[in-house]
Amino acid sequence: QEQINHYRNVNNITVVGRHVPEPCKSFNDFNVDEDIIENLKTCGFEEPTPIQKQAVPLMLEGRQILACAPTGSGKTAAFLVPIIDALKGPQRQGFRALILCPTRELAKQTQRECGRLSEGRGFRVHIISKIKKALTQYNPNGSQKYDILVTTPNRLCYLLKQDPPGISLRNVEWLIIDEADKLFESGVRGFREQLNDILKACDNQKRKIAMFSATYTPVVAKWCVHNMKGLVRITIGHRNA
Ligand code: ADP
Ligand code: ADP
Ligand code: MG
Repeated sequence: QEQINHYRNVNNITVVGRHVPEPCKSFNDFNVDEDIIENLKTCGFEEPTPIQKQAVPLMLEGRQILACAPTGSGKTAAFLVPIIDALKGPQRQGFRALILCPTRELAKQTQRECGRLSEGRGFRVHIISKIKKALTQYNPNGSQKYDILVTTPNRLCYLLKQDPPGISLRNVEWLIIDEADKLFESGVRGFREQLNDILKACDNQKRKIAMFSATYTPVVAKWCVHNMKGLVRITIGHRNA
């Protein structure tokens, strides 16, 4: 335990929560299939960043987390690796992972990184582009041949608000809220209401939430404490609250 604490200290990792697994020192310590590790190495990554070291083993256990780590510290891969591992391969069950981003540009970047890290698995990673097309493409009575959705909340909520809803989120196992500080600040009320609608639609028993943020924000932390059972908080670097 003392060694684990020391390893966290040298990596600037702070954790708050029960039974937090040991941070992984290398990609090989990630308990994931070999192809994911190969894909990480193909990206040119040599070792996990501090947030990856601690967030990946937690999410692999299905734990709900609030992860705060500076911009550029590898948060995207920190949530993509456990999602790719959990979803295994493509299915026709509709979206099983949902990633919310504050901007479309960020959604596109995340979609690209997801493609690289899941190379060889054949996942269908979608972005909601044209709303008209989306209404036919994601019709809950359609093929459901897609696995991961990366989107801004607005377009998604527009689809959910149709009667009947233009998309089903009932098979979503992982809901990721990326850049949570930005999402929550963009009209505090607005995003909270959207998030409520999205959560209602993600009514799978297996649904878990992970939040990622560049800064620690009390508003976000409070939401997590109230809505995420068994929450574990990870902070990389100085606590800036
Ligand atoms: P954040 O979301 O924390 O701002 P990103 O996930 O966008 O950071 O990652 C920033 C950059 O670091 C990206 O170019 C990404 O490909 C790269 N990166 C991610 N993980 C690693 C790693 N383990 N080693 C080296 N580079 C990495
Ligand atoms: P309150 O709920 O009274 O508004 P905060 O939301 O500011 O208080 O903080 C709630 C808890 O989060 C406190 O126990 C505090 O110690 C802890 N905390 C504060 N800053 C950080 C941080 N940067 N990372 C992780 N936990 C933090
Ligand atoms: Mg990011």
